[in-house]
Amino acid sequence: MSQAIKLGISACVKGEKVRFDSGHKRSHFCVEELGKHVEYKTFCPEVAVGLPVPRPTIRQVRYGDVIKVCRPDGSGDVTDPMVEYGRSVASKISDLSGFIFCAKSPSCGMERVKVYHDHGKGSESIGIGVFAEQIMKANPNLPCEENGRLNDAILRENFVMRVFAYKNWQSLVADGLTKHKMIEFHSQYKYLIMAHDYEGYRELGQLLARADIELAEQADRYITRLMQALKNKASRKSHTNTLMHLQGYFKKQLSKEQKAELSEHIKAFRDGVMPLMGPITLLKHYLREHPKEYLAQQVYFEPYPVELKLRYGY
Ligand code: SF4
Repeated sequence: MSQAIKLGISACVKGEKVRFDSGHKRSHFCVEELGKHVEYKTFCPEVAVGLPVPRPTIRQVRYGDVIKVCRPDGSGDVTDPMVEYGRSVASKISDLSGFIFCAKSPSCGMERVKVYHDHGKGSESIGIGVFAEQIMKANPNLPCEENGRLNDAILRENFVMRVFAYKNWQSLVADGLTKHKMIEFHSQYKYLIMAHDYEGYRELGQLLARADIELAEQADRYITRLMQALKNKASRKSHTNTLMHLQGYFKKQLSKEQKAELSEHIKAFRDGVMPLMGPITLLKHYLREHPKEYLAQQVYFEPYPVELKLRYGY
């Protein structure tokens, strides 16, 4: 039985008023849209290490080789407790299928966090939030994204797609992994992987064909490479290639007119005048008319619930 998808989220992004100024950073998409399909577990590392709400701002400050999280004047250093808290959370989140962090925060930002110089002048956007860093380091395959980047249609689609793929993998592992199940999983993901990373698809197939590695190691390597492949941005061109492969399955059943219509849809998508949902909807229609077991199981057709309306960014 597949259970609810659980995601970690910075508490302020979920709408909790835990920021230094007692405000929040509620994300409409995360709460109202994605929230209908997942359960959130909220984390506010600054509150967790004992800082009050409201509180003086903290930032990352470089002292020689060391970066500390403290007040602008160097007082109130919370680096160690924050690292410890991050490590402790990171070791207990195997039930999560993704994590949404609050951008730019010295605690929660995933990248490009400002690191100030200790003499107080200037900063470089090169830091990683201390809490986020621990989570990502201990769970390298976990899909992670920031609230700000989720406003980009392509990045949003990519993150949600990875979350659903990761959850499917977690369910497979929880049910008891076998080589056969892994091959079945790979075959269901064939066209989705191809659209994101053709080379990755080939490498994953070669990995599964190997008989000289233990199942556990093969599974570890598989999921690591799969998550890398899916993180790769699919382009209009790579989707077009994938759609043409799928079109090939119908060459015997479709009439000349139907084939022409499908080709026009694919071309319109390739030229940017139709969203990806156009040709996919037509392919799904032909699939209902001419059932094909192998195609029907392809995750590419519906990698996440269609109500999320995520395939309009292409
Ligand atoms: S960014 Fe992180 S630490 Fe800051 S208020 Fe939000 S959840 Fe708390």
